[in-house]
Amino acid sequence: MALRKLVAGNWKMNGSLASLVELDLILAAAQAHPSVDVAVCPPFTLIAPAVARVPALAVGAQDCHGQSKGAHTGCVSTAMLVEVGARLVIVGHSERRADQHETDAEVQAKAAAAISAGMVAIVCVGETEADRDAGRAMAVVESQLDGSIPRDGTGATLVVAYEPVWAIGTGRTPSTGDVADMHAAIRARLAGLIGGEGARVRILYGGSVKPDNARELLAVADVDGALVGGASLTAAQFVPIIEGAVAASG
Ligand code: PEP
Repeated sequence: MALRKLVAGNWKMNGSLASLVELDLILAAAQAHPSVDVAVCPPFTLIAPAVARVPALAVGAQDCHGQSKGAHTGCVSTAMLVEVGARLVIVGHSERRADQHETDAEVQAKAAAAISAGMVAIVCVGETEADRDAGRAMAVVESQLDGSIPRDGTGATLVVAYEPVWAIGTGRTPSTGDVADMHAAIRARLAGLIGGEGARVRILYGGSVKPDNARELLAVADVDGALVGGASLTAAQFVPIIEGAVAASG
């Protein structure tokens, strides 16, 4: 079953009020290509100004807390995100799993909180280069799925992003065959975890997606979109990726 593709940008700790001008052209591209979904996830401080500038564009966050409120200095709840107009939230990005030592259980709680708040949770999984070299890439990703996926997730509320850690920000990508194998394995695991809804959950590929490789990667079976880091920061790079998704949607 071909799912509607989603192209989501992860600005990470980049961007400023001035750079929100990029969203004008990104929204224009999203509106010119209604066959695909487009979202941008800027840092927390830019969410409200981004929503104010381009209310028709799906704006998301890059993290949330798993609890609704309380003594968690520096954290942001899903209710706070919803209040300022965020519609999606990335959880379990490998940079947070590494830098903030986030566990699968914490990622699952965050995803569950996002879904409860009416947001779409984008749950990130992916192996390190050492995992791949040791032949355990699939086992690592399946274990992350087992621990991170909320069992009430549906095609409407849950997205999985497969992001090999060694491909993020490096300019390296897996072969299309390796992407196909991993996405098929993720699809099968989702069926085991959430049943029939697993067939409706979009599985994004992320890791050095650029204008020149987007169409090929997005045409791979079970690649239902892309999570884009560096190339999402400017419309000049992000719009061609949106167009690649349109072309790959056939
Ligand atoms: C990411 O970190 O989500 C990502 C995919 O980054 P990049 O596109 O820069 O590799």
